[in-house]
Amino acid sequence: MKKPIVNSLSVTTVNVPLKRPIVASLGTFEKWPYMLIEITCNDGTVGKGYIGPYLINYTPAITLTMKELFKNFQNREIAPYQFYNEGMNHLSLLGRSGIALYALAGLDIALWDASSKISNEPLCVHLGGTLNNVKAYNSSGLWMDDPKILYDEALELIEEGNFDAVKLRLGRKKIDDDYKAIENVKKGIGSNSLLLSDFNQCLTLPEAIHRLRDLDDQDLYWFEEPIKYYEFDGYKQLRKRMKTPIILGENFHGYDHAFTALKNNISDFIMPDLMRIGGVSGWLKTASIAESFQISVASHLFHEVSSHLMRVTPTAGLLEWTRWSDIILEEPYDLKDGHVVIPNKIGTGIDFNKETIKKYEFKI
Ligand SMILES: [Mg+2]
Repeated sequence: MKKPIVNSLSVTTVNVPLKRPIVASLGTFEKWPYMLIEITCNDGTVGKGYIGPYLINYTPAITLTMKELFKNFQNREIAPYQFYNEGMNHLSLLGRSGIALYALAGLDIALWDASSKISNEPLCVHLGGTLNNVKAYNSSGLWMDDPKILYDEALELIEEGNFDAVKLRLGRKKIDDDYKAIENVKKGIGSNSLLLSDFNQCLTLPEAIHRLRDLDDQDLYWFEEPIKYYEFDGYKQLRKRMKTPIILGENFHGYDHAFTALKNNISDFIMPDLMRIGGVSGWLKTASIAESFQISVASHLFHEVSSHLMRVTPTAGLLEWTRWSDIILEEPYDLKDGHVVIPNKIGTGIDFNKETIKKYEFKI
């Protein structure tokens, strides 16, 4: 049976305001760049997807890379997984990570959306799974702000979607301020909710040994990225020393990186990022690797597509949910009792908000 032919690519970049600025040890961000990708096939199907590559000034380079990669797939019958594997081989010459991989991921996400639309199915069904809601945590706030404001914010985050899990950023200069932040958030969320923590790689190994040992009895669900993501030996040490589970993975560049991390036994959970792991295809490979190591998979950002993928991830854990992408979408996904509701629509259910594009389009 012949499949539709992939015809054209359009990439639009927007730089949108965040409702709650990100105050992290890596920096303060008031805006967030999104690249909106649309791939049109000869039967009129339009596959849509987006990536959020952090640094707006590098988006033109990613657009050019995407357009160059797309030439390999243009005028061919749509075959997302085949294209991804060819794309990864092609990228060996540039390196299978960084912005080259982000470019391939963007194409891959839009191609899978198109492919599931052609099959008349939601993405998770197209991938062999079933449609259902996905357990999530609210990651939309609790930055490195004054601990005093965190009680109200924690309460707000729980109420936003009847959540029972939230994430707090830790690693303040004084440990007492981390303790105060934890205390205030715990008061806000109550004793039946999970409290996750994220250090955004702000500690050195000796600092992490001290800080995490002190916080190890705080009943935190996990310690996320306490040290630089590439310090595998350090992670191994921390994992041995702490009883609180350790997680990393948002900075895995591609499935081969995830495999090396898991083979080295460096974390209790992983949390692939849809863009950095290489889109839908990169995620599927990583989910199988995680299953073989029996490691639970959480997600990082991109909850719309990641929620579909969690439905076909055998060791699926918690989905990260934020409001950041609401502004670029025609219809943001709903929440129900701490779960993200995957819309019963063909494809991923992603459609872009034209007003947002008009208002926030980024041009060089
Ligand atoms: Mg993180």
